[in-house]
Amino acid sequence: MPIDPTLPYDDNNIFAKILSGEIPSAKVYEDDWAYALEDINPQAEIHTLVIPKGRYVSWDDFSAKASAEEITGFVRAVGEVARAKGLVEPGYRLMANIGHHGGQEVPHLHVHIFGGQPLGPMIWRQK
Ligand code: AMP
Repeated sequence: MPIDPTLPYDDNNIFAKILSGEIPSAKVYEDDWAYALEDINPQAEIHTLVIPKGRYVSWDDFSAKASAEEITGFVRAVGEVARAKGLVEPGYRLMANIGHHGGQEVPHLHVHIFGGQPLGPMIWRQK
């Protein structure tokens, strides 16, 4: 079920539990601002998630409320993970789903990194 991105942050969401160490994850990167993990249900050869350490539901509240340091740290972490995975030369795709139309299921901001193969059309087109 897609989440409502206008609701307050839920401290019991699965990525909050991963950040606190309550739930294990396949960690690929961590710094002061961000944590990256392999997606549990990969949709491409490479499917990695990068999440900010702060309590942000989606790109909406992150872009509105995060500090300049948090935004810089998070954006740099996404680029760092993609570079570390060798994705720059072949290319890759970033995606952040927001709310119902975006199909967001976890109410903690995450950027999907897809790569390792040609990624097809940009979005699903309804006939
Ligand atoms: P979204 O639909 O953009 O909210 O994407 C949520 C993503 O989180 C999906 O691709 C899920 O496969 C992934 N996911 C859910 N639980 C976990 C978990 N415990 N570890 C890694 N990825 C997860």
